[in-house]
Amino acid sequence: MKTILVLHTGGTISMSKEADGNVALNTMNPLLDQEKLLEGKVNLIVEEIFNIPSPHMTLERMLELKQRIQKAYDEAIDGVVITHGTDTLEETAYFLDITLEHKIPIVLTGAMRSSNEIGTDGLYNFISAVFTACSEESYGKGVLVVMNDEIHTARYVTKTHTTNVATFRTPTFGPIGMIAKEKTFFASEVPPQEVCDIQTVAGNVYVIKAYAGMDGSLFELVDNDQTAGIVIEALGAGNLPPETLPALKKILARNIPVVLVSRCSNGIAEDIYDYEGGGVNLKKMGIIFSRGINGPKARIRLIVGLNSGKSMEELNAFLSE
Ligand code: ASP
Repeated sequence: MKTILVLHTGGTISMSKEADGNVALNTMNPLLDQEKLLEGKVNLIVEEIFNIPSPHMTLERMLELKQRIQKAYDEAIDGVVITHGTDTLEETAYFLDITLEHKIPIVLTGAMRSSNEIGTDGLYNFISAVFTACSEESYGKGVLVVMNDEIHTARYVTKTHTTNVATFRTPTFGPIGMIAKEKTFFASEVPPQEVCDIQTVAGNVYVIKAYAGMDGSLFELVDNDQTAGIVIEALGAGNLPPETLPALKKILARNIPVVLVSRCSNGIAEDIYDYEGGGVNLKKMGIIFSRGINGPKARIRLIVGLNSGKSMEELNAFLSE
């Protein structure tokens, strides 16, 4: 029988609806009562590492999770399941994906409906995540996110809907597998990627979204010595309004890394357009084009790169990998 380490961190999956209709945290996680459903099938070691809504997640807490999982590598654990609030689940999943060596399956899950709401998806997603963590096929695929019968990679999955249970999607490439009746079915391989075993998560990195008529004022606000990096969610294939360029040039002159992703939810940002503020222009200025990950994940990747001591050239390679 496989042994799975369960790390509960909080989120809707561990919350309940109260008499006034509001959804709130419990002192005791309702999933703890349900684990007997897996008796005789899986050996669970359960820890409540945090009990927070996921907007309270921080990089320091992500680092704590990483360190707990690294310890599990020496504890004869076959897989890890992390329950997490869905709002920032993709960020924690991605952080673990690029900072941990993938020795055993690591699966994150959550819920859109709390434990006592009609049609609650928490227990079902939890059990699906446990069986995915037990599956031999889940090895070597990086950190996985299991929600609503689908298996996604941490790298590309994103929350796309505020309330629907089918909120987690992988827009450009689709899920890599599915789970049905306790069995996993994988349809795609996941290429290996660089892992940075960082011990710190220092540095202020901001995500700024571009829009029609944008000028340089937001960039001027973060043009200071406390800023370690900037991620821009640019327009379309990777373009910016020309009025942003003078402020961006000043930031680049300070050697602050500026990373660009697209604000589109599908596709990859590229240097295609050769006009003032077009991608060709931006890349020549020294802006780093990141490949296919979204703004919050590019921020995590930049922080991880900075904390592993990479030079500007190495950061460029790491971010555009
Ligand atoms: N706001 C909640 C959280 O992220 C949403 C959820 O868990 O689904 O903690």
